[in-house]
Amino acid sequence: MKILLEGDTGKALCEHCQAVVSMHYARRDVPFSDGQGAAKDILVGVCNQCDVVMAIPSQSTSAIREARN
Ligand SMILES: [Zn+2]
Repeated sequence: MKILLEGDTGKALCEHCQAVVSMHYARRDVPFSDGQGAAKDILVGVCNQCDVVMAIPSQSTSAIREARN
């Protein structure tokens, strides 16, 4: 598995922009799906155009799970 680092870039479909856009990886606080709190400082893909979190790499999902426990 490729390990992503802060500052890495890529392209993906942004649901907010409704287009394939350039993105970069940065550390953000990611809210849990049930809205009860957030995982801090998680590496995620951020849209370059609208700054919305558009991708959560699999390497980060385990960190989110740990933050919940
Ligand atoms: Zn976007």
